[in-house]
Parts: sequence; C-alpha cells; structure tokens
Amino acid sequence: MAGFKLGVIRLGKAAGKIKYSLLDEQDVSLIRRYGFQAHVDMDRDGNGAKIYAYAYDLIKGKSSMQSLHNMLWEKYRGGIAPGFKVVHLNGITVDNRLDNLTLIPEDFPVDMVEEPSTKSREQSLYWLAVQQLHITPLQCQNPIEIQKHKFYDNNGHDVYLEEDSIYYECHYPPCTNMEKHIRQFSICGRCQQVRYCGTICQQQDWPVHKTYCIERPAVDSDTESLPDR
Ligand SMILES: [Zn+2]
Ligand SMILES: [Zn+2]
Repeated sequence: MAGFKLGVIRLGKAAGKIKYSLLDEQDVSLIRRYGFQAHVDMDRDGNGAKIYAYAYDLIKGKSSMQSLHNMLWEKYRGGIAPGFKVVHLNGITVDNRLDNLTLIPEDFPVDMVEEPSTKSREQSLYWLAVQQLHITPLQCQNPIEIQKHKFYDNNGHDVYLEEDSIYYECHYPPCTNMEKHIRQFSICGRCQQVRYCGTICQQQDWPVHKTYCIERPAVDSDTESLPDR
C-alpha cells in the first residue's frame, strides 16, 4: 500500500457492529466540519438493507445530513442528474474513496455489483485500513452493545428500538454482508448473540469470538435450532 494514504473515520454502531468509512486522504479533513454517522437504509426493492456513511455540517446541524457518497460525488464530480444514483463499485458501501464511486441510472438492478467473497473482504482496503486503527476485536464487537434491539412495553409487547437496524450485518469484522430479510443469517448457537452470513465467516471469527461467546442455556428446544436459510 505504499505510495498513497487513506483515511478512516468512525461512524458508530449500525446493524450490530461498529462501522467505519474509508476515505481518500484528502477528505480526512472533513472531520473538522462534519459529523459522521452510520445509517442503515432499507433497500427499495426489498433486498434487505445496506449501511452507508452519512455526514452533517456541524454548524448547520443534523438537518443537513446527507450520504457521504453523494456529498463526495457532488464535491468532485459535479451534480447528480435526476434519475441517477451513486453506488459503490466493490460492493462495500462504506468505502467512499472516489475511485470506488460511480454513477448509474436509478432503476439499474441493485445487485449489479456482485457480493464480494469472504476472502476478498478480508483483503479489501476497507478492512486493511480498519485494522490499522489497532482496535482490539473486543472493542470492535462488544456483544453487550449489540443486544439492545428489543425491549418490552408496559403491556408486555415487543418494541423495537429504531436507533439500530433489525437487519444484521455478518458479525465477522471484515465481512459487510447484510441480511436481505430478517433473521436470514444463522445465529451463534452457543451465545445466541451474533449472526453470520455463512460458515466460512463463522469459522474465521471463532478464534476471537470464543473469547467472549458465553453459552446461554436454551429456554426451550427451539432456541438451539438454526434459523431457516
Ligand atoms: Zn460474512
Ligand atoms: Zn457465540
């Protein structure tokens, strides 16, 4: 990676994970003027949701919130014509390097970009850059933060907290695969806290996950079974 530098900004938590955005070095200075957040945007065509970086002007406040990819496109490439949208070429929707952005017609099939494999995600610039932050995996994936999705109201009904998504992103840190429908991913049968897009990711994550995977006693026989895939 010699010869050029990248920036990483922390977006905060979304879909059960701490998310970051990758930027070209020249855009790192945006943190002086903008606040950043991770947003889970539902896909219009019903293909689950995706996590995007959003930015807002610190002086104008959160009403100025817009997606970072649109903001950067407008800054460097000009306006976004009606009927067009900015997408991420490598399928990693928080990788906001200019080279990773392109403009396509809005009605273009969403899954034009092939989902990257686990291996290619491990080697992605996004993941290489996040690792440079020297964040310990435990800080990255503290499961105590994750389970705040659901609480019960006075009548005992489930109430979902909307601050986060009910769709999960694969828990293996380099993987940015997201559920396309609720409970699509299989849950760790031991702790029932984290979800994975597949066995490869689950196996790759196990050396780290096992250090805080605490077995939960099954409440009934259903709890142990994996969700339908
Ligand atoms: Zn995965
Ligand atoms: Zn577990």
